[in-house]
Amino acid sequence: MKLYNTLTRSKDEFVPNEAGRVSMYTCGPTVYHYAHIGNLRSYIMEDILERYLAYSGYEVNRVMNITDVGHLTSDGDEGDDKMLKGAKREHKTVMEIAKFYTDAFFADCEKLNIKKPNTVVPATSYIDEFIRVVSALIEKGYAYEAGGNIYFDTSKLEKYYVFNDFDEEDLAVGVREGVEADSNKKNKTDFVLWFTKSKFDDQELKWDSPWGVGYPGWHIECSCISMKNNGEYLDIHCGGIDNAFPHHTNEIAQSEAYLGHKWCNNWFHVHHLNTEGGKMSKSKGEFLTVSLLEQKGYDPIVYRFFCLNSHYRKGLVFSYDNLDNAAAAYNKLVAKIVPLLGCEGEMDEAAFASLKKNFTDAMDNDLNTSLGITALYDVLKADISAKTKLALVEDFDSVLKVNLVAAAKKLQAGSAGDDLPEEIKTLAEQRKAARKEKNFALADELRDKIVAFGYSVEETRQGTVIKKI
Ligand code: AMP
Ligand code: ZN
Repeated sequence: MKLYNTLTRSKDEFVPNEAGRVSMYTCGPTVYHYAHIGNLRSYIMEDILERYLAYSGYEVNRVMNITDVGHLTSDGDEGDDKMLKGAKREHKTVMEIAKFYTDAFFADCEKLNIKKPNTVVPATSYIDEFIRVVSALIEKGYAYEAGGNIYFDTSKLEKYYVFNDFDEEDLAVGVREGVEADSNKKNKTDFVLWFTKSKFDDQELKWDSPWGVGYPGWHIECSCISMKNNGEYLDIHCGGIDNAFPHHTNEIAQSEAYLGHKWCNNWFHVHHLNTEGGKMSKSKGEFLTVSLLEQKGYDPIVYRFFCLNSHYRKGLVFSYDNLDNAAAAYNKLVAKIVPLLGCEGEMDEAAFASLKKNFTDAMDNDLNTSLGITALYDVLKADISAKTKLALVEDFDSVLKVNLVAAAKKLQAGSAGDDLPEEIKTLAEQRKAARKEKNFALADELRDKIVAFGYSVEETRQGTVIKKI
């Protein structure tokens, strides 16, 4: 399998450190608010990577942190600490906020068929480990104390800008919310490993340390959580492209300084989901969450399907029109699967293998999910038995995870309608016509009649489903 590697800036043949096993690390969410669907684009594409590696026969160990303590990198960070801001907004403690939004994040993941990583570690549970690694970095001469904080000394490295398309110019734009000067730093690129004195002094969560009572910086969390759970050699590190600099650059700096050797071979970065107006944000414009999409009547799986239709290394523009197009394509796809359900017949092993190869060729080429979906359309068009088609659909969907067969069964059950009495069928037809003419008052009246006969009427993205109550 070829994967684009931000470190080498090329599509490289993926070779894990240990044959048959892949260690994978994912930067988890900062749990001060709901995830927006942009954040979730990254997690969907990382999920596809994990599932495809497993499908290809690897045993994958995936680790993720939860950033529940601060989100700070130095006194140069602008604005308020996000966790504290969240706690103040909702009149809760930081830990209550963290618990609530961690649960909300995994609930969203479940709706999007994003598998929970094998190991999930909240940063607050690893304080001793952070202190141990920061102490070692001081001992090795890679860190210094200034103004009460411990900083990583980037001038000690042979090369700091490892993803070499970033340079000092990017510093001003690469960080999350912008930078101010931090006068304690020896070098502009130095960053905080441990805070004891900071302009962000009103932290709720602080711990004792050899350098005084304080709290860890953001970058050290991911390095420590990964090294502890994935060992000294990491195969794949994932994240959104905004994390490449400075977060991942700093993770590499401190991990390799600590280990004394190369840490991670492959860096997998997902490009951003943007709105038509530009950058997606939790504070400006419409706050696009999975729940909002559901409120508007979209099945979250349609959003997953929308993401899979584009390559993860291209920016993607979200609009309701684009999502509607994805929903229409998804519904058509599902409708094509309905006639395959329950078909008897022969399994054509040769056709199965050759059509499966189209899918794996696409996915082996830097996870080309949109071509993977094209391979699925090719299956449905192919002149092979229904049984073979359905087996291929199920096989591809074990990676794509867009619930194709379940949706087809639901559609079949809903449109079967054969067991509905004639008068209900007639009312349903009349209601459909009224809705088409936008005569919603009549449509509501007809719905009430159907309900009065003891039937439920549910509008789904796949059409109207009428069932006996
Ligand atoms: P955060 O909760 O801010 O730590 O972000 C969680 C993940 O979402 C990180 O991997 C970010 O790089 C990623 N991310 C942030 N914004 C976007 C976006 N608009 N599109 C895709 N991924 C994003
Ligand atoms: Zn991280």
